[in-house]
Amino acid sequence: MKLIQCPACSNEISPAAEFCPKCGHPNRTGNSPSTMSCYQCDSPATQKCVHCETLSCAVHLESCRANKDRVLLCLACAEKQKKANKAIHLFAFFAFLIVVILLATQSQR
Ligand SMILES: [Zn+2]
Ligand SMILES: [Zn+2]
Ligand SMILES: [Zn+2]
Repeated sequence: MKLIQCPACSNEISPAAEFCPKCGHPNRTGNSPSTMSCYQCDSPATQKCVHCETLSCAVHLESCRANKDRVLLCLACAEKQKKANKAIHLFAFFAFLIVVILLATQSQR
């Protein structure tokens, strides 16, 4: 695929990319210019929260880890996702602790 230049930082980006991976400048090549604006500011919305579909600019979405994938979430959903990730980590930690205790008690005998 032929690469195009980001208008903001002249980094080479794919024309299919929704935004420049380097500086986050929205890349809309022709198709349907968005007239909707961001839920946080007046910038035109170029991104969408994958959870609640809130329209947002490139700045007001957070890239979060969800099931090994990186997804763009609005700030509210990002907060929820972080809490969910924390809960998973906590669970994994306790599972690990139990295994360690079991191994320790077995090796004593
Ligand atoms: Zn850029
Ligand atoms: Zn915004
Ligand atoms: Zn959301």
